[in-house]
Amino acid sequence: MSESEILNIFKKSGALLTGHFLLTSGRHSDRYFQCAKVLQYPEYTEVLCKMIADNFRKFEIDTVIAPAIGGLVVGQEVARQLNKRFTFAEREDKKLSLRRGFTLDENEKVLVCEDVVTTGGSVFEVIDIVKSNNAQVVGVGFIVDRSNGKVNFGLSRLDGVQTEYPQFSTLKMEVVSYLPDECPLCREDIELVKPGSRKVK
Ligand SMILES: [Zn+2]
Repeated sequence: MSESEILNIFKKSGALLTGHFLLTSGRHSDRYFQCAKVLQYPEYTEVLCKMIADNFRKFEIDTVIAPAIGGLVVGQEVARQLNKRFTFAEREDKKLSLRRGFTLDENEKVLVCEDVVTTGGSVFEVIDIVKSNNAQVVGVGFIVDRSNGKVNFGLSRLDGVQTEYPQFSTLKMEVVSYLPDECPLCREDIELVKPGSRKVK
């Protein structure tokens, strides 16, 4: 699928809005993206996750793992298409861990999946979980890269060892945002909207 076809799916599902938005950071942007909206639709989830599954099909994989909540749908669908086990990590006391009796075997080959990567914090935590179980990270696949090219999952925080496993996203979406004082949309008097809630101005 081309970049414009992917963007079209995001727009059709309401995942990608254009306008004038107040972000949680306090900055303003002309775009707002909510990945969960596209994952409401199984047919969209299927085609996006197929790109991830196809990218990693050539690798030996035993299990797909994802951080809850955002990565659950993506990880489950990628695992379904690869016909591999799916497991997930979830937060307890602010820290991601395997619960519910989930385990990873020594040397198990694991693909990490996520919906959106901005700083990559949750994915780095999952990589650390895989490594601390002496399992192997095969790669990292996710729907949208919003890190502006900054995130490199090859370097895990646990042991600081640079590895060569690959990462793949279906789309790189540059984040453009402005300080309120410098916002060109404010200057054009376009109504400012706080996504998911009432209008603020
Ligand atoms: Zn503004």
